[in-house]
Amino acid sequence: PSHSEANAASDESNGDTHVSVEKSNGKSNVAENSNGAHAAKGPGKHQAVGHKSLLKSDDLYQYILETSVYPREHKALRDLREMTARHPWNLMSTSPDEGQFLMLLLKLMNAKNTIEVGVYTGYSLLSTALALPDDGKVIAMDIHRKNFELGYPFMEQAGVAHKIDFREGPGLDTLDALLLEEKNRGFFDFIFVDADKDNYVNYHERLMKLIKVGGMIGYDNTLWNGAVVAADDEILPKYVRYYKEYVCNINNVLASDPRIEISQVPVSDGITLCRRIL
Ligand code: SAM
Ligand code: CA
Repeated sequence: PSHSEANAASDESNGDTHVSVEKSNGKSNVAENSNGAHAAKGPGKHQAVGHKSLLKSDDLYQYILETSVYPREHKALRDLREMTARHPWNLMSTSPDEGQFLMLLLKLMNAKNTIEVGVYTGYSLLSTALALPDDGKVIAMDIHRKNFELGYPFMEQAGVAHKIDFREGPGLDTLDALLLEEKNRGFFDFIFVDADKDNYVNYHERLMKLIKVGGMIGYDNTLWNGAVVAADDEILPKYVRYYKEYVCNINNVLASDPRIEISQVPVSDGITLCRRIL
């Protein structure tokens, strides 16, 4: 059973991550986590989305959700989350506690113009759009438009669709197109990166030209479900092993980049926040 995109199967044709579906006997209402423990499923129970294995216990994560996250989650986000839970790749979705964290961060920063690389059905995108002011804009990019389209009605429902500019295609190409326009350089307040992990270093070089000095880039899944500290001989699913070296590499690149201040925040599967200073 999977917990996150860290456990997601790779579709080698497009570098995308596809989640493996939890084993199901048609009767069981439980999913096994990486510690062999069982997490209850059902209304109000969290999906197995990775971060809980980084906490002391599954119950602790459920406590966070039930105490601080679910009671405050926007209805359109909840509806989008419940729709996404029925989608076969659902474990790729941003978790609601991380969405709440992003929203708080965006508001603290007074972010107005942002970019998102890696949309899927749009939980983090809708969180972003809700946190931006009415005249804010998020340029969102993904190689698959159809998953974004599944989430779009919820963005309309929330009254924030006018803030969203979706661009289909490989993220690097879309960013290169943005860089051709001088007005985009040093323009963006916040950028969330949650797409092909083997390109994070390539994204970083482009994004450092698009983010403003004082702005923030967030790289998601930088703890890679704990695999960043896996021993060389540890048995990992092929795709986890494949991306591990790229995640470790971006962590080292970010840690030694003098142009940014960083914090690797262990929310969800780890998000490394990078504030541009030079
Ligand atoms: N942030 C999303 C959310 O909240 O649900 C989850 C994003 S999911 C982990 C990763 C996404 O990256 C997938 O939707 C996939 O199609 C997209 N992706 C993969 N390779 C990409 C690429 N080269 N350029 C743009 N998007 C890509
Ligand atoms: Ca992610």
